[in-house]
Amino acid sequence: MNRYALVTGGSRGIGRAIAVQLASQGYCVLINYKSNREEAQKTLDVIIEKGGAGQLLPFDVANVHEVNTALETWMAQNPEAYIEVLVNNAGIRKDNLLFWMTDDEWNDVLNTSLNGAFYITRLLVKYMMNKKFGRIINVVSISGVTGMAGQTNYSAAKAGIIGLTKALALESAKKRVTVNAVAPGFIETDMTKDLNQDELKKLVPANRFGKPEEVAELVGFLASEKASYITGQVINISGGL
Ligand code: NAP
Repeated sequence: MNRYALVTGGSRGIGRAIAVQLASQGYCVLINYKSNREEAQKTLDVIIEKGGAGQLLPFDVANVHEVNTALETWMAQNPEAYIEVLVNNAGIRKDNLLFWMTDDEWNDVLNTSLNGAFYITRLLVKYMMNKKFGRIINVVSISGVTGMAGQTNYSAAKAGIIGLTKALALESAKKRVTVNAVAPGFIETDMTKDLNQDELKKLVPANRFGKPEEVAELVGFLASEKASYITGQVINISGGL
């Protein structure tokens, strides 16, 4: 098998659902994670149980040396392989009001989401362009589209990735590499387990939080040949929020 997809933050939540979805579409999925090997292995177990294929590929997306070493080593060990789908999904939240926000809260969120997406995409997009096919899907957030109080760091990181998405789409369209973003609203994962779901769902026209699998279906479509003419777009998946 030489069709590969890389999903960052594939050990849990939305990333796990995306990894399982892409495996069901025939990709051998590289499951990236930072530290939670046990959960990453569970993602791989689900994929294998359903007849798919995958590998674990741990690295910290925020660390450019780790990103380069992990991906270059993997490519050297798999010279025939080519990663044709990249899903930049790894992300963290460190909410605070701006006037109380520490440098670490700001930098950790920006480094993980925005810089992480940059480091990985820079490395992989040139192979996609050489092969004249690729799919880059960035998991952003409604918070980066509209802004959200208490999340200036997170909104800035996600809005930054939206800018990257639109600009890179223009650079790569002729080479049949599409670049899109999906912007979830509230999705039931570890990231939202500290939130008061009963209160917050009242803000959502659909009156519920979304499921990771619902985001994964959209990502699966954008990764497919059927989405060849969609690029540079941000698609909200938020129950109408
Ligand atoms: P989650 O359940 O907290 O999972 C986060 C994932 O990211 C884990 O796999 C984690 O790996 C990985 N990760 C975090 N920092 C990393 C790093 N430096 N390097 C590599 N991997 C790292 O989060 P989620 O809710 O599924 O969110 C996934 C994406 O969707 C994020 O970008 C998030 O901002 C976005 N999003 C989520 C929601 C929501 O309501 N849940 C809404 C909008 C957007 P470990 O397991 O090793 O820690």
